[in-house]
Amino acid sequence: MTIRVLPAGVAARIAAGEVIERPASVVKELIENSLDAGARVIGVEIRHGGLASIRVTDDGCGIPADEVALAFERHATSKLGSVDDLADIGTLGFRGEALASIAAAASVRMTTRTSDAGSATTVEMEGGAIARQSEAGAGVGTTIEVEALFSTIPARLKFIRSPAAETARVRQTVDHLAMAHPHIRFTLNTDGRLQLSTSGNGNLRDAVAAVHGAGLAQAMIEVGSWTGPYPVWGLVGTPEQSRANRTGISLFVNSRWVQHRAVGVAIEEAYRGLLMEGRFPIAVVFLDVPPGEVDVNVHPNKREVRLSHEGDAFSSVQHAVREALLAASPIAEGEGLLSQAAPPAPPPVPSFEMTFASQEREQSPLPEPAPVAEEAHAPLVLPLGASPLSRLRVLGQIANTYIVADGPDGMYLIDQHAAHESVLYYRLLRQWANSAPEVQPMLEPLPMGLTPQQMDALGEGRAVLEGYGLLVEPFGDDTLLVRAVPVMARRVDAAKLVAETLDNFATRANGVDTHMAAAASIACHSAVRAGQTLDHQEMTALGEVLASEMNPQHCPHGRPTVIRVSTDVLGRQFGRL
Ligand code: ADP
Ligand code: MG
Repeated sequence: MTIRVLPAGVAARIAAGEVIERPASVVKELIENSLDAGARVIGVEIRHGGLASIRVTDDGCGIPADEVALAFERHATSKLGSVDDLADIGTLGFRGEALASIAAAASVRMTTRTSDAGSATTVEMEGGAIARQSEAGAGVGTTIEVEALFSTIPARLKFIRSPAAETARVRQTVDHLAMAHPHIRFTLNTDGRLQLSTSGNGNLRDAVAAVHGAGLAQAMIEVGSWTGPYPVWGLVGTPEQSRANRTGISLFVNSRWVQHRAVGVAIEEAYRGLLMEGRFPIAVVFLDVPPGEVDVNVHPNKREVRLSHEGDAFSSVQHAVREALLAASPIAEGEGLLSQAAPPAPPPVPSFEMTFASQEREQSPLPEPAPVAEEAHAPLVLPLGASPLSRLRVLGQIANTYIVADGPDGMYLIDQHAAHESVLYYRLLRQWANSAPEVQPMLEPLPMGLTPQQMDALGEGRAVLEGYGLLVEPFGDDTLLVRAVPVMARRVDAAKLVAETLDNFATRANGVDTHMAAAASIACHSAVRAGQTLDHQEMTALGEVLASEMNPQHCPHGRPTVIRVSTDVLGRQFGRL
C-alpha cells in the first residue's frame, strides 16, 4: 500500500463530521454566529429533525457582499480582530470552521445584508463550493438554509437517530441558548409547529418559563452568590419540583451551555438531604470564570469544558445553590397531606393514620452511591442558618416512632429517628470540617475480621474514619483493631459500623461523597430507632436538640423529619374556618 494524501474534498468532509455531529450541532453553530453578529431576534425552523432542512434567520450585522464567499472558507473568521491574545481564539471557540463544515456536509443557501448595503446577497453552496451568487431583496441580517444535511457523508447518517430524537436534541439546544441569552428573542419551529418562543426581555425567569413552563419557573428559587471563588447565579427548583432524571439540570459556564461532571455533581450535592433517592433537581445555573481558566476545546462540539480550578468551581456552585435552598426551605406542611388524604363521601373522620398511609415511606437504605466529584478534597458545605424549631412543647409519642409537639402555629409531628439522625449527621460533618471529632476511646481495642475488599478500602478510608472519630489500626493481613469510636456511637456495635462504612468505600471512588456516606452511616447507627419507646424526658431532650442544632427538615436519605399541621388546617378539618 502506498501512502496517499486524501483529496481535499474528502478531508473536508471528515473534518466536517467532527465539527457537526448532528442537526443540533448545526443549529448551535448557526445560532452562535447570529449571536456573534449582534442579533436581537433569532428564528430557527427545522424539518424532519433538521435532516430535510434547517433555517436560521437573524437581524444581526450581516456580511458584506464581497466577503460572503470568504465566510465559507475553512479557517475564515472575522473574529480575530476582536481578540487580543492568540490563545483566546481557541478559548473562545472561534475557529472559522462551522460554515465550511456545514457547506461540506449539505446544500447551503445564505442570504445576507449589512445595514449600509442597498441590497442583500444570496449565495448557494454545493459540495463546499459556490454554485451561484446573486443580488436579492432582504432586510438587514442573515438567513442560512441548510438542506439535505449529511447527504454527502453517508457514514455520518449512520449515527443519526430518528427524526423525532433529532428534533428533541435541536429543541434542547435552542432551549439552552435561549436561557443563556434572555435578552434575545428566540423562536423555534419544528415541522411547522411553534415549539419555543421567548420574549427577549432580559429576564431569566421569563426565559426559563418559556422552556420549563410558567408554573414551574414561578416557583423556582433565585440563586445569586458573589462571595465564593467564582460568581454563581440562576434559578433552581424547589425539592418538590424534582425529576426522575438529570435532564432538568442546565449548567452554563461563561454563558455557554456545557457539560461538566464535577460541577454538575455540585448542584446535586447542594440538594443532599432535600431530595429522595433517585430524584434530581431542576436547575439553571450560571458560573462565571475568567476566560483563561476554561478550555472549551476538549471536544470539537465545545460542549465539554475543562476548568483550571475545578475545586473552586465545585465549591462556588455548591455553596450558592445550597444557600439559596436553605434560605427558601420551609418546614414540610401537613396541609397538603391532609387535603390529599381528604376522603371521598361519606367522609369518615380524618385521621393521621390516613395521612401517613398516603405518603410513600420507604425503609431507609443508605444513600445510593451518587456520582462522585472528581476532586478528592472538594470542600464540604455545611448548612447555614438556625433551626426554626424553637419553642416546641412535646406532648407525647405515637406508634413509638413519631413525637407529637405543640409549636408555633400548629402541631408538629417529628419522625424521631429521621430527626435525630439529621442532627447527628450535621454534627458529624461539622466536627469533620473543624478536624475536631468527639472521640470515645475503647477500654480495650476491639479486633474485627475484614474481607479483602474492606482491607483495600482501608487504604483511603482510614483517614476519613479518623476524621469522624473512628480510630482503627490494621492488625495483620485481615484484622483490624478499633481503638476509639465517635462519642455519639459509643453504644453502637462498632465492628458493624466500621464494616458498613468500609463496604461503602469499596463501592465508591474517593471524594466528598465518601465523607458524607461515612457520616450518614455513623449518624444512622447512633440515632434513636423508630419503634423505640421514649420517655417524656428523652423526647423533650430530643426536641431541645432539634431546636438548638442544625436540623434541616429532611434526613440524609431525603425523607422529611418534621411535618407541621397548621392551626388553620386543623380549624378547617374541624369545620371552624
Ligand atoms: P467563526 O464563527 O468561528 O468565525 P464560522 O465558520 O462560523 O466561523 O463563520 C465564519 C464567519 O462568517 C464569521 O467569522 C462571520 O464573520 C461570518 N458569519 C457567519 N455567520 C454570520 C451571521 N449570521 N451574521 C454575520 N456574519 C456571519
Ligand atoms: Mg461560528
